[in-house]
Parts: sequence; structure tokens; C-alpha cells
Amino acid sequence: MEKKPYTLRELFFRHVAQTSSSPLGIKVDKADGVFLYSDGKAYLDFVSGVSVSNIGHHHPEVVEAVRRQADNYFHLMVYGEMIQAPQVLHAQLLTSLLPENLQSVYYVCSGSEANEGALKLAKRVTGRREMIGCISAYHGSTHGALSMMGGREFNYAFEPLLPDVGHIRFNSIEDLQKITTKTACVLIEPVQGEGGVILPERNYLEALRQRCTEVGALLIFDEVQTAFGRTGSMFAFLKYGVVPDILTLAKALGGGMPLGAFISSAENMGKLTFNPPLGHITTFGGHPVCCAAALASLKVLLRERWIEDVQRKSEMVEKLLKGHPLIKEIRRAGLLIAVDLGRADYAARMIPLLKEEGVISDYFLFNPTSFRIAPPLCISDEELKMGMDAVLRAVNKLVE
Ligand code: PMP
Repeated sequence: MEKKPYTLRELFFRHVAQTSSSPLGIKVDKADGVFLYSDGKAYLDFVSGVSVSNIGHHHPEVVEAVRRQADNYFHLMVYGEMIQAPQVLHAQLLTSLLPENLQSVYYVCSGSEANEGALKLAKRVTGRREMIGCISAYHGSTHGALSMMGGREFNYAFEPLLPDVGHIRFNSIEDLQKITTKTACVLIEPVQGEGGVILPERNYLEALRQRCTEVGALLIFDEVQTAFGRTGSMFAFLKYGVVPDILTLAKALGGGMPLGAFISSAENMGKLTFNPPLGHITTFGGHPVCCAAALASLKVLLRERWIEDVQRKSEMVEKLLKGHPLIKEIRRAGLLIAVDLGRADYAARMIPLLKEEGVISDYFLFNPTSFRIAPPLCISDEELKMGMDAVLRAVNKLVE
């Protein structure tokens, strides 16, 4: 008898390396706006590829920009050697939105790499070797980024990690004393994403900024997950009025294409060009097709003004879910929302239950009792309402 060929699903499990024992495993045929489509079924996306698809999936202007750039050239040469219009024009537009100490953009491929570059830059600028991260922070999976992560359960297996790394508690004023004249940098998310949407308490970021300035440590804001309108302003740090020395970006930066960046002053960035030269190099960083997508995506975001509506939509989520007896807490930073059920078993069951309801949600790495609501910012009120109805149906099923 002739052997039946493997299905795509079977091949996925045979040949594509897995990171968890329970991948969502939805075979995606198409993605458009706030929906993913699989075998004729539409799934409302409440993850946005983990805060990537802020302008929605497969935006036609991004698609067109990718097509146009693909017609001209792909990769040419390692980063920083050639003048490539998509990079230059994107850096010009991006920096027009940033303060004067953040005007030099170093493009990389991912959030992890952006943080690696930022940490190295801080060492070079300060001449110091000690670095500080936060408990319950996620900064990426590479060795350096992993060392900065404040969650032993995810990094102990990969020891030895970077030496001279300390951790402080997010929102602890007391812990700021651990930042000293030996500290090169503090790497921190202004709103903790994988911690389960933990907002900075009043004056915390100001006090952190002040302490860093006092002791000459560089403040690095990891806005990989919070930038490009996710929390209700273009960058979260603008909302809190605290400016970092280095800003790291990725995820929504590329409009759905892989792109990361660390940004600082031209003076700081200059330190990577000598003693030794080539202080940070990358082959594919700032790929022209990705930068073309990033430029188109940023233009759409600026024109459509969805960001101005993020806060209202965020409040709408709270209004529609609040009061349900199984929902213990809703933590919101714009459209980065954690719905806390107070029980890890409930939160774990919500993901498959929501999938049944045609909604894609996800966990938070350091907050097992919550599930995520983080749709593309372009979601309409009707779509949001539809999603909340599905969430309520799924929550009710927890006790059926
Ligand atoms: N920083 C933060 C705050 C993140 O949320 C993530 C990804 N979840 C990263 C860094 C790492 O980004 P990447 O997966 O692109 O390396």
C-alpha cells in the first residue's frame, strides 16, 4: 500500500523545533487586520505576535513597501557600510519622534540583540562592568539578555551567565541604592510586559532616573514590547516623562518584519567605532526590506491616529470584563492588558478555551495567573466587543 504523505501539522511536529509542549498549533493560511485565518475559521488576535502587529496584520502599505524594496535590492553588505535609503529615511522619521539625546540608531535583527548592543554600549561609555536588571523582567533569550532576566526559573539551566549582574525589584525605591558608581547601566522595561503588565508606581521612574544620573550609570529602557503606541503613547517613556540614555526597540518596529534597534546619542554611539573598532557588528541588522516595512508601518501609525484611541479602548475592556466573579484584577497599560484570574490552573485553561471561541491569547512568562489581551491597535469597537463576549463565555466555562 502506498504510504500517505505527512500532513503539514505532522511535519511541523517532526521537523520544526518546539519551545513548549503545547504550541497553539494553528495552521495559518492568511492574516489580515486583527484576524488570522485557518481552514476557513477566523481567529481574533489578542496577542499581535506579542506586540508586533500594532497596525494589524499584512497592512497593504507595508506589503507594497516590501514589494517595492524587493524590486530594488535585498541585503548588500554588513551593517553600516552602505548608504541604504530605507535605513536612512526610517532613522530620520524615527528620531524625529525622539528627544535630542536619542538621535543615533543602530539597527539589529531582534529585541535580544538590541539589548545586547545596549549593554555593550553602556560598558564602553562608562568604562564600568556591573549591570543591573529587574526581577520579573524579560529582555530576550541570548546569553547577555538572559543574564539580565530576573527570573531564576528560566535562566538557571544556562549558567554560567554574565558575571557582575545584579537585580532590583521593580517599583522598589529602597533597591535603587544598589545602583552605585560601579554600575554601568540599569536595563528596565518602563512597564513590565512578561511580568504580567506591571505599571511603574508614581515617581518610580523619576527616582530611578535621578539615581542613575547621580552615580553616572546609564539608564536603558527596553521598549521592545511597549513602543509604537501599545501603552497609549508612541513610546511609554514619553507618557511617564522620563528619558533614558539608551532606548531599545524591536517587535512592532518592523511592521511585521524582523527588525530591532538600540538608540542613543551620536557621541555615545561613537564609542563602538574605535578601541576596538567594529564594537558591534551584524550582517543582517537593518535589512533594507525590513527597514522599508518599518518606514511604511510608522507612517501608517502616525497617520491613522489609532494611538489616540488606545486609552479609550483599554477602558472599554475593563468596563466589559469588570465585576465578573472569576476575574480578580485587570492590569492595563493601554492595549497591553493582563486579566488576572488569581489561579494558574484557570489561566492555563483559558488559552485553549479562547481558541475554541476563535480568540488567540497567551500567557505571561512571569505571571502564571493571568492571560493576555493585546490586540492590534487598529481593532474596532465591534471587534473588541466581540472579543470580550468570547472572553466572558470562556471564563464561564471554567466553572461549568
Ligand atoms: N524585551 C522585551 C521587553 C520583550 O518582551 C522581548 C520579547 N518578548 C524581548 C526583549 C526579546 O525580543 P526578541 O524575541 O525579538 O529577541
